[in-house]
Parts: sequence; structure tokens; C-alpha cells
Amino acid sequence: MTDEKKKKNKKDEPNLLREKLKYISPFLKEVQYRMAKCYICEKGTVFGNNVSHSVRRTSRNWKPNIKKIKAIVDGSPKSVYVCTRCLRSNKVTRAV
Ligand SMILES: [Zn+2]
Repeated sequence: MTDEKKKKNKKDEPNLLREKLKYISPFLKEVQYRMAKCYICEKGTVFGNNVSHSVRRTSRNWKPNIKKIKAIVDGSPKSVYVCTRCLRSNKVTRAV
């Protein structure tokens, strides 16, 4: 395994995409360009390679373990997608 999979995601590209989509449809308020993304820590999909024993590389991706939960956001319950790591470390107050 290489260090490539640990590489941070480029922050500019999704924003560019969002701007483009806004240009196409100005009524879109929020564009969901990436489903597997944590609401709290913004952890998303990372990309890398499978490397076999003969060092042939095929591309793959890693998605975070995302759960859809009801959380208290700004004092009111809201349905958000949160990664299990944030849930485990009590970064979310759950609305039950
Ligand atoms: Zn998270």
C-alpha cells in the first residue's frame, strides 16, 4: 500500500462544481455533489490504487462509514449524514 490513499482531497474542485451547477440552475440552493460525506468532519471519499503482488495497479476508492441520523443542529433536530467515527467520539448530539 502506498501513501497516496492518505492524500487530502482537493478543496477547490467541489466548489467549482457547485458554482457550475448554480450557473445551470440558479434555483438550486444546496447542491449535493458528494453523498458519502460526513456533516461534521467533512470526511469524504478518498482515491487510490489496489496494488497486487505483481504491482499491477487498479484504481479504487475508500468511502467513510456514513450513517443517516437525527441530530440537534443549531437547536433543532435535523437529519444529517455523519460518519461513525464522529458518532463514536460524541461530536454529535442525537435527537431521540
Ligand atoms: Zn465525521
